[in-house]
Amino acid sequence: MDRHDVVVIGAGFAGLTAARDLREAGKDVLVLEARDRIGGSTWYQPDVFDGVGLEMGGTWIVPQQTHVWAEVQRYGIPVEDSELPGRMTWSDRGTVLDTLLPVPPQEYEQLEHAVRALIADASRFDPLRPLSEQDVADLDVPIRQWAENAGLTGNAKELMMSWFCGCANANEDTGSALDILRWCSSMDSSLWGMVQASVLGFTFTNGTASLARAILADGGAQLRLSSPVREVESDDEGVTVTYDGGVVRADRVVMTTPVGVWQDIEFSPALPADKLAISRENHAGQGQKVWALARNVPEDISGFGWGTSFDYVGAMKTTERGVVLVCFAPEHDRVDAADLADVQRAVREFAPEAEVLDAHSHAWVHDEYSKGTWATFRAGQFAEYELCVGRTEGRVHFSGSHTARRWRAFIDGAIESGKRTAAEILAAEQ
Ligand SMILES: Cc1cc2nc3c(=O)[nH]c(=O)nc-3n(C[C@H](O)[C@H](O)[C@H](O)COP(=O)(O)OP(=O)(O)OC[C@H]3O[C@@H](n4cnc5c(N)ncnc54)[C@H](O)[C@@H]3O)c2cc1C
Repeated sequence: MDRHDVVVIGAGFAGLTAARDLREAGKDVLVLEARDRIGGSTWYQPDVFDGVGLEMGGTWIVPQQTHVWAEVQRYGIPVEDSELPGRMTWSDRGTVLDTLLPVPPQEYEQLEHAVRALIADASRFDPLRPLSEQDVADLDVPIRQWAENAGLTGNAKELMMSWFCGCANANEDTGSALDILRWCSSMDSSLWGMVQASVLGFTFTNGTASLARAILADGGAQLRLSSPVREVESDDEGVTVTYDGGVVRADRVVMTTPVGVWQDIEFSPALPADKLAISRENHAGQGQKVWALARNVPEDISGFGWGTSFDYVGAMKTTERGVVLVCFAPEHDRVDAADLADVQRAVREFAPEAEVLDAHSHAWVHDEYSKGTWATFRAGQFAEYELCVGRTEGRVHFSGSHTARRWRAFIDGAIESGKRTAAEILAAEQ
């Protein structure tokens, strides 16, 4: 049986980073990846709408995400800043408003109150420390409840809920408000910074895959694709990992799969009750990202909606055939991405004349190796699970963006976690 110092399960950014750092320290590392590609929850497809490259998963980064930014600099990966949208579009239950703001003038004070409440609550904690150890349990509530507790009403409340749901990729009764306030907090409590970190940051000129490939090549870890792991059995001397295609032994294992996937792997000893519980509950990020190519749409549309199928529709670029739109919905299956008429219906809630020519999406929620999009917490999960998700179990080290601090659920968080886990293993062996 093959023996390695470390077996890394999953070749997303967490796994690739951990493998590289361990290789740099002289470890013999094998990466086992279930899919036939690296990148995990990032997936750049170079040629979709007539040669346009699309990111099916993780897309935007900002310089404040210091881990991913450092990797981009290290490998000289080209990135480009997003253009500011020329206008904002607001859709109130399908009615497009062409007003300055999505609230009537007599409610501007309400909007100001909403922004103040967001910044005040985001300023209450330090995103670099575990939130469950700070006095903010009152914010770990569903998005709707946070808005009500903050005294928001009318359109200002709906705008804030739509924005939070967009960030959480979850609906207003599921997603934790605290997890979204964390985004604002991580941008030094700047609302504008939070907007940049969500859909106005930098994108990878040659796709996220360009960075994933650079990290893999640098580390030189062995990689086996199409090798889903089925069993992880620990004993006093090491860990036996069984995957489709073989069995390997290692001193230690790095586990980077999304939490919802843990329950499908047989662990011995069994996963502790808290890890099993969150795996079964899963995280809140259960929405959709859909790309559409459309005609008769403003080239600079950037639209937020409430009571609409998509909660965000934004233009990314213009081709000879039309405008490339990125669209998000806070729940899966709200829009049938395989049905152009359905995508058109949903886009028309933002651009009534739109003619959708093509659409493309990946159903992350139904993908057995993801079971969700990005790993935002459900309300109440901070207290229960924030620390348990990254806790080491014997020789098995739990990593992945869901275990990160400042930028959990981002590419940056995945890299942060990979670095942390590699350092943890090296420290444990000293
Ligand atoms: C639609 C979408 C949009 C996003 N937008 C952004 C964004 O704009 N900016 C941003 O920073 N982040 C974004 N994210 C989040 C970001 O992509 C993730 O947080 C990050 O890529 C997670 O990396 P990871 O290595 O922790 O996990 P993953 O990338 O999920 O890697 C885990 C790996 O484990 C593999 N695996 C699963 N089960 C097994 C098994 N049994 N055996 C072996 N391997 C297995 C998977 O195939 C996968 O490759 C987005 C994610 C999605 C899905």
